[in-house]
Amino acid sequence: MPIIRIALDVPLPTLFDYTVADGMETVVGQRVVVPFGKRQMVGVVMERVAATEVAPERIKPVTQVLPDSAPLSAELLDLLRFCSDYYRYPIGQTVLSALPARLRSDKPFTSKPILNYRLSAGGAALDLKSLPKRKVVQRRILARLAEHPCNLAQLKALSATAGAQLKALMLEGWVESFASTPTLALMELPANRLSPQAGKSLVVPLQGGGDHAQHTFDNAHTLTGEQQLAVDAVTQSSGYACFLLHGITGSGKTEVYVHLMHHVLQSGGQALLLVPEINLTPQLENYFLSRFPDVNVISLHSGLSEGERSHNWQQAQLGVARIVLGTRLSVFAELPKLALTIVDEEHDSSFKQQDGLRYSARDVAIFRANQRGVPIVLGSATPSLESYHNALSGRYRMLRLTGRALAAASLPKVRSINITQTLMHHGISEILLREIGLRIARQEQSLLFINRRGYAPVLMCTGCGWLSGCRNCAGKMVLHLKEQRLRCHHCGYQIRMPHNCPDCGNADLVPVGSGTQRVEGVLQERFPDARILRVDRDSTRNKRAWQTMREQIHANQVDILVGTQMLAKGHDFPALTLVGVLNPDSALYSSDFRAPEKLFAQLVQVAGRAGRADKPGEVLIQTAFPDHPLFRALQTHDFEGWAASQLAERQMAGFPPFVYQVMLRAEGKQENEVYQYLNDARTAAVSLQHEVDVLGVVPAALPRRANHLRAQLLIQAASRRTLQQFLRAWQPMLDALPAAKLRCSLDIDPLEF
Ligand code: ADP
Ligand code: ZN
Ligand code: ZN
Repeated sequence: MPIIRIALDVPLPTLFDYTVADGMETVVGQRVVVPFGKRQMVGVVMERVAATEVAPERIKPVTQVLPDSAPLSAELLDLLRFCSDYYRYPIGQTVLSALPARLRSDKPFTSKPILNYRLSAGGAALDLKSLPKRKVVQRRILARLAEHPCNLAQLKALSATAGAQLKALMLEGWVESFASTPTLALMELPANRLSPQAGKSLVVPLQGGGDHAQHTFDNAHTLTGEQQLAVDAVTQSSGYACFLLHGITGSGKTEVYVHLMHHVLQSGGQALLLVPEINLTPQLENYFLSRFPDVNVISLHSGLSEGERSHNWQQAQLGVARIVLGTRLSVFAELPKLALTIVDEEHDSSFKQQDGLRYSARDVAIFRANQRGVPIVLGSATPSLESYHNALSGRYRMLRLTGRALAAASLPKVRSINITQTLMHHGISEILLREIGLRIARQEQSLLFINRRGYAPVLMCTGCGWLSGCRNCAGKMVLHLKEQRLRCHHCGYQIRMPHNCPDCGNADLVPVGSGTQRVEGVLQERFPDARILRVDRDSTRNKRAWQTMREQIHANQVDILVGTQMLAKGHDFPALTLVGVLNPDSALYSSDFRAPEKLFAQLVQVAGRAGRADKPGEVLIQTAFPDHPLFRALQTHDFEGWAASQLAERQMAGFPPFVYQVMLRAEGKQENEVYQYLNDARTAAVSLQHEVDVLGVVPAALPRRANHLRAQLLIQAASRRTLQQFLRAWQPMLDALPAAKLRCSLDIDPLEF
């Protein structure tokens, strides 16, 4: 009787054996439904074996084989096995958490066609100038569809109101829809598609024939010398190689990606581009479509509907989608023709999953490229010290873009303002306010960057020193003045803002420190006529809000932007010439050894927003430590010097990338149970006598959250291999410890402390 071993979504580190009834065919990688306890569960066939240790009377047959178009590939299953082993996460949960929701359900995985839109004959004949000027969005949609057909998600990236405007255009008879199914070899092209502008675009014949005869490439720019060197290095490499593309902001990294993709498309391959943020993928998708108008470009991220997601996943699986853009989970997409992976903003911590399978998509992408024998490019203006160290030591190949691609765009001038020696207005210096005033007069935009939302991080009683602590957490409740509430950003607990001190009754309660709302208030008072826009998680809760805001910024309907790191990432605001950074100092004395590295990256990124067009930009940093090496390095745009000093410090202190770490975390209602568990785990670790450094059990950075006590144990080793050997021996001991009432997790290569 054939036995198959199945991955199931249960927290046990094993596969489960089943038999297959006569006449039922199963292959490895297929999805099946099997009885598990009293339930029926979906699983994936991982292997066939000749014998099982399960007693014959206990082994059960597979209930159903799900009729999917294709089983998961051996390559993907290998990748998932590696992740399960490396991240010490149960194999079944690893396999199932890497799949889109549809694949985890017991429905057959056949995706419905999704609709695409194109110009009708009437729409193609239409003169855009005959449309009333105010129909901006309609014009934009028509212009885009004249270039290439789009799906709804791509059109929505043009404007928040694209859905409604599209309906109107269809009623006029100018736009028509057509279905695209994953089996279509290429996105169908309408006969009336405008031919690409002569001179700029090339139609490239495919080498060696194949099913995709050619693709159109909008070769918009002549590469700079440095860009060309980078492109050549990657295209001329053979087999696996990891490249670090270190290019300052505005140096044209995206142009390098485009040329690399062009190369991959020519030889019939697929390219995967991993990006940190969902917010940016629709814009990027449109951008790549504009450069490769007849190539099937898709995205994979959690902002898609389940239907869109499984449709796109299947397009990738069939090899039909040639360029795949996605956030971290897309590193697990099936890509049978994968020929190149690019990880943009490789330093970004959102590539690391912080629960469940705690994987780093960047590191998994590197493993995958190695497994397949294809190149991978990590791009950043501020590489992570891990990647930078690997490039310096020769494990990765360093590619540098040292100048801005547009000759006219100069790097912003960076200046520190000493907040201890200047006139301050509720956290904003007079110097900065004056500079903002100058920008308003010149009709240019300013951006104030502060990494704190709400009005003030804490409310204080001037009588007795009471602080607005959360009753469930060790943190403070943040004052949201507009809503008259105190809110805990850790657990969500909130209360009405008190008017008297809960301890002494004193009515003199003062907000301490500033958040985005308070900064907004100060600016409103100083510049009553200015148009001020606050961008943080509170003001963008509505799905469309952030996109509407971006449109306002682009249309220059905003004078001053106040926002958190949401504003720092990848947005190109041409009228922005001044960036003010408020309150960066806490990162300088944080207990997290990566805090300065993160701050540097964030400030380079936010500074990169200033002066991207022909107007020079200026960055003002408010700090009590104007001579700190971090701010000095920012002023001189000296990433190399800064990274070298940071690496030297890390080496002295014995921190990554010079050691490899694992963090065991535990939390529970009873403090003694948490500490008992961690201390027992520590004793077990020491007893193994491996060459690892077992540190002490310590409280977490936030020692109490939502009424749970939290503590952790860090273990370090000199090499990945030593650490992995240790983990293999240690984990069974951990599994044997009583921990029923605790939430415990192992975090390999942790980023959060
Ligand atoms: P990065 O991603 O490195 O910050 P971008 O790729 O956004 O930089 O490029 C910055 C700007 O320079 C963009 O407007 C881009 O179109 C332009 N650009 C890039 N490469 C070239 C080139 N070779 N010639 C002219 N302009 C270029
Ligand atoms: Zn008081
Ligand atoms: Zn709380």
